[in-house]
Amino acid sequence: MNLTRRPDRLCDCHCPAHSGSLRLAYTSASCKCLVTCSTQPVTLLVKEWACALFLHPDNDHLWFVMNVAHGQWDWESAGEIDERADMFDACGEIEGLLRRLTTVLAEAAGASGR
Ligand SMILES: [Zn+2]
Ligand SMILES: [Zn+2]
Repeated sequence: MNLTRRPDRLCDCHCPAHSGSLRLAYTSASCKCLVTCSTQPVTLLVKEWACALFLHPDNDHLWFVMNVAHGQWDWESAGEIDERADMFDACGEIEGLLRRLTTVLAEAAGASGR
């Protein structure tokens, strides 16, 4: 099965930078995409760390984006989890779980014909 998730979905969250177009980079300063945007991969919201975690569609590495205000995200400083970060060990496990989750969701979508 091909699990590569190309950024082939168009933004549907009225972001000034991406609305109606592809979102090729996840670190644009002008991006106001919501984590519920169609362009956003399967995303885990982590209230404890005030961030959201997701697998970047290009390389499948675990990325984080900080929550700056209710429903707003600091895309400009989004990036891969640093191995020096306190949460790195937990993140290794989360990365594996997100991969598994993505596979399960893809299989479920395939099974239901969507
Ligand atoms: Zn955007
Ligand atoms: Zn968007």
